[in-house]
Amino acid sequence: MRKPKVFITRELFPEVIKKLEEYYEVEVWDRYQEPSYEILLEKAKTVDALVTLVSDNIDCNLLKQAKNLRIIAQYAVGYNNIDIDCATKLGIYVTNTPGVLTEATAELAWTLLMATARRIVLADHFVRFGEWWRLKTAWHPHMLLGIELKGKTLGIIGFGRIGRRVAEFGKAFGMRVIYYDVYRNEKAEEELGVEYKPLEELLRESDFVSIHVPLTKETYHMIGEKELKMMKPTAIIINTARGPVIDTQALVKALKEGWIAGAGLDVFEQEPLPENHELTAFKNVVLAPHIGSATYEARRGMAELVAENLIAFAKGEIPPTLVNKEVVNVRKPGFEK
Ligand code: NAP
Repeated sequence: MRKPKVFITRELFPEVIKKLEEYYEVEVWDRYQEPSYEILLEKAKTVDALVTLVSDNIDCNLLKQAKNLRIIAQYAVGYNNIDIDCATKLGIYVTNTPGVLTEATAELAWTLLMATARRIVLADHFVRFGEWWRLKTAWHPHMLLGIELKGKTLGIIGFGRIGRRVAEFGKAFGMRVIYYDVYRNEKAEEELGVEYKPLEELLRESDFVSIHVPLTKETYHMIGEKELKMMKPTAIIINTARGPVIDTQALVKALKEGWIAGAGLDVFEQEPLPENHELTAFKNVVLAPHIGSATYEARRGMAELVAENLIAFAKGEIPPTLVNKEVVNVRKPGFEK
């Protein structure tokens, strides 16, 4: 029997590819630049399985033309780039990689939070590019002052895996932690010592706001002018979730007009962020190129989970981290016709 074909839209760890080769005929897109939509479409038409990234646009048009496609293993926890409803209707399984990147992403959110609070990128430039030397001042009481965390309020928007881990960091730093989510989690409130607040109250009370919701119709531009105006002028906002959760133009206005004190951003409405984008001009903003899960540990865990999902499916089993659970009512797992 022929092995099912899988197209992997970017290089993974060779050991993981090897594991997959036991069950699949594997083709890997090995260039650094992502495949265009046209290439993705051509590949999708000829394969049984796809491994995709957040930057791959898997819309209904593509899915409808991918006649043999049975499973998409997304190499990420977020899957806003895939039309899930359409995939489900067509009987295409979609899996993701939750959990294995929680630590990495929470740690990056914390890195951005501390880097923004203590102006660490500016401080590095100050030393590196000679400004400190040119000032001929070794130490000044007002040089590069930042904000302390202890006793401040941290507001978490989206109290899932990553949000809860960031809450733990906040508690370890002596902060008061409040959260907003669609559902209250009273067990976690008790365990972590955090309080639930409606979004407006959270925005008004927080010194730091960290966003951890998925990108959905409901969370698109969840933070716009109205919400930014509710924040304290001394507050810092951190986004490691998805760019479109914040309205970029509103954020630029908020930073220009001092409605808030700073931002730490790993994700943007347009990625890559265009050269000379307005956000790059602010000294109180720390930027990163969507590297939330970019640790060796997380990326290896994500690759392993992609392989586990694909292998389980090839054996006719339900993949361990299936996103669209209702798909089982449309088609059984596996490649049997
Ligand atoms: P998760 O465990 O599913 O947590 C997301 C939380 O947000 C859930 O509690 C969810 O509630 C809640 N939520 C959903 N819609 C909401 C809304 N409209 N208002 C308030 N809360 C809402 O996911 P996670 O593993 O923590 O990941 C969170 C997100 O981080 C991912 O979706 C992804 O986009 C992003 N991420 C980014 C990077 C990066 O590289 N920067 C890396 C990893 C993840 P329900 O469970 O009830 O829906």
